[in-house]
Amino acid sequence: MRRPILAANWKMNMDSAALRAFTDRFIPLVANAKAVDVVIAPPFTLLDRLAQQIAGTAIQSAGQNVHPEESGAFTGEIAAGMLADMGCTYAIVGHSERRALFGESSAWVAQKATALLRHRIRPIVCVGETLEQRDAGQALEVVATQIGESLAGVASDQAEQVVVAYEPVWAIGTGRTATPEIAQQAHEHIRKQLSAQFGEAGNRIRIQYGGSVKPETVYALMAQPDIDGALVGGASLDPEAFARIVLFQDQRIS
Ligand code: PEP
Repeated sequence: MRRPILAANWKMNMDSAALRAFTDRFIPLVANAKAVDVVIAPPFTLLDRLAQQIAGTAIQSAGQNVHPEESGAFTGEIAAGMLADMGCTYAIVGHSERRALFGESSAWVAQKATALLRHRIRPIVCVGETLEQRDAGQALEVVATQIGESLAGVASDQAEQVVVAYEPVWAIGTGRTATPEIAQQAHEHIRKQLSAQFGEAGNRIRIQYGGSVKPETVYALMAQPDIDGALVGGASLDPEAFARIVLFQDQRIS
């Protein structure tokens, strides 16, 4: 059994007042969500405050990015050790916005993932195809290549620490969620590849779906055999919506 993981990616949103309003509302709503991992990735500037506000709860914090080097002349960057110092247990790497807007390659993402693992931070490694690639019938091949290259530096005995987030680019921030069947097809393909790459450990790697996940769509996605969680952008800014996503078992529409 893989433990579900529901993660919020706040991107470049929220400030300290908004964070306080969010946690005041969100923490009591998810207090009984014991069987899932709940993760929030705020902007770096809010990591310290978030750590204070989630202290004593099961909620964990994540960086949205990291630089692979340990320290040095890299103005504007944040090292894995710094995230560990802020109490982060996860960090997102290779988000499609980083790949598209900041030119990040899978080889670069791989360096980030291994830097995080050195500091016992679990990388959430994002992959996903564009609409053009899907329309050209290349979706599974593109994702397979991204996985192979982005996880190239991960040893089999570390594989279980990794979370993969399948986020089709055409579904991010567009309101267009992949159907559960389309998502499952990609996740099954990713699962096979992870098993080929890491053996038995590949079966234990959690694969999140991301792309316009909402309280109304989360249950059907999570019901798929190879969907182990969600990486949520827009809906995670609303404490009630994200709480309903965390409590996905309750969102079943009978
Ligand atoms: C994301 O950016 O990781 C994401 C899935 O965003 P949204 O939920 O807004 O599509």
